[in-house]
Amino acid sequence: MSKTLNENAPATPGTATQPSGGSPRQAAIAAVTGYAARTPAFNFVETPSKDLFAANVFGQKAMKERLPKAVYKSLTKTIESGTTLDPSVADTVATAMKDWAIEKGATHYAHVFFPLTGATAEKHDSFLSPSDDGSAIAEFSGAQLIQGEPDGSSFPTGGIRQTFEARGYTIWDVTSPAYLLENPNGTTLCIPTAFVSWTGEALDKKTPVLRSMQALNSQAQRVLKLFGHDDEAFVASTAGPEQEYFLVDRHFYFARPDLVNAGRTLFGAKPPKGQEFDDHYFGAIPERVLAFMMETERELFKLGIPVKTRHNEVAPGQYEIAPVFESANLATDHQQLMMITLRKVAEKYGMSCLTHEKPFAGVNGSGKHVNWSLGSSSHGNLLDPGDTPHDNAQFLVFCAAVIRAVYLHQDLLRAVVASAGNDHRLGANEAPPAIISIFLGDQLTDVFEQIKGGGASSSIEKGTLTVGVDVLPPLPKDAGDRNRTSPFAFTGNRFEFRAVGANQSIAGPLVAMNTIVAESVDFCATKLEEATKGDPKALHGAVQTLLTEIIQECAPIIFNGDGYSAEWHAEAESRGLLNLATSADAIPGLHGEANTALFEKYGVLSDRELESRKETYLEQYCMTIGVEANLTLEMGRTLIFPAAIRYQNLLASTCANLKAVGYEFDTDTLDRVTELVKWLQDSLAVLERTVGEDAPDNLTDHARHACDVVLPAMNTVREYADALEGLVADDLWPLPTYQEMLFIK
Ligand code: ADP
Ligand code: MG
Repeated sequence: MSKTLNENAPATPGTATQPSGGSPRQAAIAAVTGYAARTPAFNFVETPSKDLFAANVFGQKAMKERLPKAVYKSLTKTIESGTTLDPSVADTVATAMKDWAIEKGATHYAHVFFPLTGATAEKHDSFLSPSDDGSAIAEFSGAQLIQGEPDGSSFPTGGIRQTFEARGYTIWDVTSPAYLLENPNGTTLCIPTAFVSWTGEALDKKTPVLRSMQALNSQAQRVLKLFGHDDEAFVASTAGPEQEYFLVDRHFYFARPDLVNAGRTLFGAKPPKGQEFDDHYFGAIPERVLAFMMETERELFKLGIPVKTRHNEVAPGQYEIAPVFESANLATDHQQLMMITLRKVAEKYGMSCLTHEKPFAGVNGSGKHVNWSLGSSSHGNLLDPGDTPHDNAQFLVFCAAVIRAVYLHQDLLRAVVASAGNDHRLGANEAPPAIISIFLGDQLTDVFEQIKGGGASSSIEKGTLTVGVDVLPPLPKDAGDRNRTSPFAFTGNRFEFRAVGANQSIAGPLVAMNTIVAESVDFCATKLEEATKGDPKALHGAVQTLLTEIIQECAPIIFNGDGYSAEWHAEAESRGLLNLATSADAIPGLHGEANTALFEKYGVLSDRELESRKETYLEQYCMTIGVEANLTLEMGRTLIFPAAIRYQNLLASTCANLKAVGYEFDTDTLDRVTELVKWLQDSLAVLERTVGEDAPDNLTDHARHACDVVLPAMNTVREYADALEGLVADDLWPLPTYQEMLFIK
């Protein structure tokens, strides 16, 4: 066997693997079928996973071992109860951190931050500084730990700063532990940070997460106090994100310019066999994929990320990974690391990990279900119904607060999941719909129905709820069936926000959740404080009144039926619920009056910070569609059109040859190809014109243009190209097909 395959290299014409006269596509197929594992196998007996857990994290364990007691205590207090960091401990922590990292092979440190692009950014600095005697010493001071200054001029700021105003600071986030990034050639100490401009405005995704957690805690404390809990243990929002993704062989990936540049296929006819058999979902995991998953999990374990679940998803080639939930801030950082790790490890196994929301048209897309709740070390999960009626009342207040929050802020929840990629899931008759509603399940719906009728005379006659909520039965943990079609579902002890896109940072959705629930809990606390005036005996009556009021007002948001159905769209409209089908409809509302007031009131985002986010997300939307449109033009002209006319020529010359020797030639196929070639050319010309048009200056209008004019023009090109794929001779077709990408393992 002289044929060696380089897993990481794209299949290029003229390599040993290419059959004569073949295309990159055929070279890719040959290479894929010749895959052999190159990575050595793990030995879980020698190194059990539990020994690896958090091995590369400067967390509680490492800190306890290496820090003086007083410093450790001070730091832990900040981490656990959100108190201000004492800067005098920084030097000690920095030295301990540096020594720990260097012992583990670190040469550099990096402040890691999370710009508005949704990506993860890092700037590496060496520990070494030259000293007077010409040698170098390893240095890392408290000041360097606490604050960094990356040249942030190229990150989007949505108008907060001009490019020449480059100054931005990264600030150590003590609540997210430092960790080591391993590379065969050395290790880097990574320090999670917030990223702010020199004027103090948040330029990143982390800062508002931290601010919104603080806001939620302050308001939750007030309700807990009413229920007699005043230990003030920090109430944190918790998040458990389930990540869906696709894996395709790298050879196919590199033979598809659309996957490389847009993360999704812009062309591709539906395969004869799709996902209709549901034979992939929860099926046996292919060996190469399982090996990839195990290595990914091992890497994540080392970073202290508690991954728990792995399985095949609905579509062929689609999978899911889910960690155990953590505090929202940590879960957000870990989720970013998870996406990076998935991509990195996939490469080692000769695959590409696609986190785009809709890499393949007509095949299930990928979401990121964000499980959300709130809780504290002393009271546990506050959305757990609990066993006693007393807990039950408290649970119902928090639960009603969430329902009210979602009802009042549908536009915001829709805006924070809006992106060009996610539009292919949300607005396009694929679950969940763009309409925000809540699935409560039968049990909880019934409870709220009773509460809703609680004020009515018929209920008083029945005597069900008039003596206060304590008569309600304890709720079982699994309070009802599941509903896959709901964008926002109660799943027994948490809410699951299912509309989030697979490629998104979960920061935006969490900031929105934390803030709207903070506002709603504030509303509840104020009502209850006013009604009870400090008298605990008045509490249950007050809770009854409050819950009745909330549920009467917010009932339209509750929907337990089939969210995919056309009837729901009609019914939602009659209920007055919003249906913001596209990002162009949803993003501008982010900076609406009510949302601006909301974020300002709770100190999460200022008017300017919020506006900057709206601008950035609109800009990203426009840029994404701009890139896709240009790619469609290029691929249409340089790959698909040439393939089509080659085939057309083949048919035409066959026809001429047959005629020359006196045979008849049925020109049906030639006619059809000729027609499609013409339409393809025409549609490309139309697309070119729409792309060339002067884009409106105003970003909102620009987004509208991209959505209403450019996207439909792209779809038309695709329609003809996909029809040609079904006609053109297979050996002339230049792009790996859906069938090949999705089914070759
Ligand atoms: P399913 O597929 O049934 O929805 P999974 O087990 O895949 O469930 O994922 C459920 C996710 O919900 C996990 O990440 C889990 O840790 C998370 N979760 C459980 N309890 C909470 C909670 N209190 N707050 C936030 N997330 C939670
Ligand atoms: Mg799941």
